[in-house]
Amino acid sequence: MTDPLAALGYNARTDVYGAIKRLASSGETQSGCLVQKLKARLIEAGLRPTQQRMLLGWLLFSRSHRHVSAEDLYDEATRARAHLSLATVYNTLRQFSEASLIRQVPTGGGKTYFDTNVGEHHHYLAEGEDRMWDAPAEAVEIAGKPVAPPGYEVVGVDVVVRLRRIEADS
Ligand SMILES: [Zn+2]
Repeated sequence: MTDPLAALGYNARTDVYGAIKRLASSGETQSGCLVQKLKARLIEAGLRPTQQRMLLGWLLFSRSHRHVSAEDLYDEATRARAHLSLATVYNTLRQFSEASLIRQVPTGGGKTYFDTNVGEHHHYLAEGEDRMWDAPAEAVEIAGKPVAPPGYEVVGVDVVVRLRRIEADS
């Protein structure tokens, strides 16, 4: 897959923001262009494709599925020379979650990961390594459907399997 930004002479470490700024504001439509696809995806989700949403969307969706915290994404945006505040990153992530573009995976440890894979699946969380990834379907087997209290229905079941690395004896 060709990277449209690289094709324009940009790379992720230099000026993603400049490229997005140009493409977001121009009426330019390049078929197969990932930035244009991202723009269409935001519009389809009911979100206006502002530069900040485009930039954060690019960081989130231009690669394979990811699990990132707001702080991680803020650091990436800063490295891409986008002058966004952490509050803007939080707000944008919340809007993306509400639009079902991403989903939140709370870890119970006060940290929330945002997952670009919105399908129902479970996670591994390596404690102390600050790392979350998808658990294969066979890693978690839920016997029977969970029972919702009166007046509620079950929307989904998210299991976070907490891991600790085994210390090898030496
Ligand atoms: Zn996931």
